[in-house]
Amino acid sequence: MHVIILGAGLTGVTSAWYLKQAGHAVTVIERQPAAGLETSYANGGQISVSHPEPWANPGAPGQVLRWLGREDAPLLFRPSLDWRQWSWSLRFLLECLPGRTRRNTAAIARLALHSRDCLHALQKETGLEYDRLEKGILHLFFSPREFSQAGQRAALLQGFGVRAEVVGTRDCLSIEPALAHCRDKIQGGLYAPEDESGDALSFTQRLSERCQQAGVAFRYGLRIESLVVRRGAVVAAHVSDETGAAEQIGGDAFLVALGSHSAALVRPLGDALPIYPVKGYSVTLTLAADSEAPYVSITDESRRIVCSRLGNRLRVAGTAELAGFDEHINPARCAAILRRVEELFPQVRPTGEVEYWAGLRPATPGNVPVIGRGSLGNLFFNTGHGTLGWTLACGSGQAIAGIIDGQPPRLEFPFHNL
Ligand SMILES: Cc1cc2nc3c(=O)[nH]c(=O)nc-3n(C[C@H](O)[C@H](O)[C@H](O)COP(=O)(O)OP(=O)(O)OC[C@H]3O[C@@H](n4cnc5c(N)ncnc54)[C@H](O)[C@@H]3O)c2cc1C
Repeated sequence: MHVIILGAGLTGVTSAWYLKQAGHAVTVIERQPAAGLETSYANGGQISVSHPEPWANPGAPGQVLRWLGREDAPLLFRPSLDWRQWSWSLRFLLECLPGRTRRNTAAIARLALHSRDCLHALQKETGLEYDRLEKGILHLFFSPREFSQAGQRAALLQGFGVRAEVVGTRDCLSIEPALAHCRDKIQGGLYAPEDESGDALSFTQRLSERCQQAGVAFRYGLRIESLVVRRGAVVAAHVSDETGAAEQIGGDAFLVALGSHSAALVRPLGDALPIYPVKGYSVTLTLAADSEAPYVSITDESRRIVCSRLGNRLRVAGTAELAGFDEHINPARCAAILRRVEELFPQVRPTGEVEYWAGLRPATPGNVPVIGRGSLGNLFFNTGHGTLGWTLACGSGQAIAGIIDGQPPRLEFPFHNL
């Protein structure tokens, strides 16, 4: 079978790998000149199995209201005239109901565990290099109220089979000595020793090279304008290059992995994907030799910021802004991230230019990705991975390759239309 994959981010490229491994002819179409240049470009770097809880939870509506209008708020809602934003937001509120949150958390945890197993197997087979660190993730709490809930969270994670332990301030410092300078602020932590971190862009690009060597065709610089349907099946992707020259690329099956842009492409076919962009920021510092920067990946639970060491760089990412498809970089939000880095790690010394970046998380209201079939028999989805696209990439790619191959998935997960 010839499978056409639309999009070469984390999800498109991992899907290409597993589909090629299953023996299919694979073509990937991407508008950028290389893989991973949009949302997979500069994310927080965490393989965070220990954070399956979605943003949509019973505490979220109150928090969003409290932060409304604050330019540096970790979660910012910018109301617009876009009815899709309002419809997504209403569905988000629905997903905040306790029963929905429990169901979404469990589905994400199962997929995340499966995904980590897939990543380990892939890594063993390919030996890809992407500044990987297997030092775990330390979730930090800065208020007694937040820390008081750590025990409950650890129990929930352990119930899913995720290793996680509540640790006091002293243990936090022995897990990550670079935290020594903010010891007075830390109430305690939750340590997940089996989590890891690494550069998602390097991973995506190295894996795309392996795919290419294995025979996957990458068609870069082509914008997908629409899907061509004949007799109830997709027969081609209608694309154009930068000169405006158009082409139709035909295949037997079509997999949509276009991140935040997935919903617009398939809407005319009758598929209503509940995906809306949630903008996030990252700041990347190249570290001077005398920096005391962390090696253990950190999640600052109070500010919703994560921090990962990528070789001689420190990536700090986070915040969420519901502001449509606007990708411009807001200096106030970057400054808030940088201030926090200075508070947590005053001994970090950057050298050279600081890299600021903003990306659009392809978010579903409950953060559960859309993996499965479309309304037409040969149309498939692997998209909507929101805050966890790096964590969930390999498991999602493996799962959708099986589904396209006609094998019923063994993983217990709400696959789309299966
Ligand atoms: C600030 C931030 C921090 C994050 N931190 C983490 C983290 O620590 N851990 C984690 O697990 N996840 C994290 N994420 C989430 C993760 O980065 C995303 O979920 C993931 O990158 C989504 O990958 P994707 O392949 O679905 O989308 P993308 O990477 O956006 O790929 C989609 C591709 O489709 C292409 N495309 C779109 N439209 C068209 C078209 N019409 N024609 C041709 N090509 C098209 C795009 O160019 C793009 O390359 C973070 C995200 C952000 C924004």
